[in-house]
Amino acid sequence: MRLLLVEDDVALAEGLKKDLSRAGFAVDVAHDGVEGEFLGSEVDYDAVILDLGLPKKPGLDVLSAWRQQKNTVPVIVLTARDAWNERVDGLRAGADDYLGKPFHIEELLARIDAMVRRRVGRADAVMEVSGLILDEQRQEVKTEEGECLSLTGTEFRLLRYFMNHPGKILSKSRLTEHVYEDDADRDSNVIEVYVRRLREKLGKEIIRTQRGQGYVFGDPR
Ligand code: CA
Repeated sequence: MRLLLVEDDVALAEGLKKDLSRAGFAVDVAHDGVEGEFLGSEVDYDAVILDLGLPKKPGLDVLSAWRQQKNTVPVIVLTARDAWNERVDGLRAGADDYLGKPFHIEELLARIDAMVRRRVGRADAVMEVSGLILDEQRQEVKTEEGECLSLTGTEFRLLRYFMNHPGKILSKSRLTEHVYEDDADRDSNVIEVYVRRLREKLGKEIIRTQRGQGYVFGDPR
């Protein structure tokens, strides 16, 4: 999943990017409101973490602009710990959630998971599709037979994106955009390699190829 982090505190942004990457997210960082607004309008993110106090353009204005453009990306705003009015303003401007600074990374991760879950219409916190259960903390997958398989970072990112969008045709370019961290790695042929690895681990039939269109994850219904 690809996240946008808009935070002008460079040290905080660097630390968060590291933590979020470790949790299996591809993260783009913007340090001011103008760059943040641009990226959020141009790129199809799975979620946005938006600081409210930003140079060049306040976070609230950035958020309002996205919502006026009918951009429904889930947004969590970062507010000052005791500023209840910032939380209200953020929610009223179209935020899905908020978090007061300072916060624990675990809380941010749990809130991102919850937002993404709501967006894709998944009720259960446990990700279970076609008999596979994904353990997002351990980055492991459990099969129907009860076997636990460990995943590499890229395998985990790809499988999580597939499991969040079962039964949907996902193009290679979309998968590349949502799975890869760095532009340097964004070669859509690499997706074929990782799809093959997931098929080897989980069974050939779990990911179907739609010729010329992409891949579909999960049992045919
Ligand atoms: Ca700030």
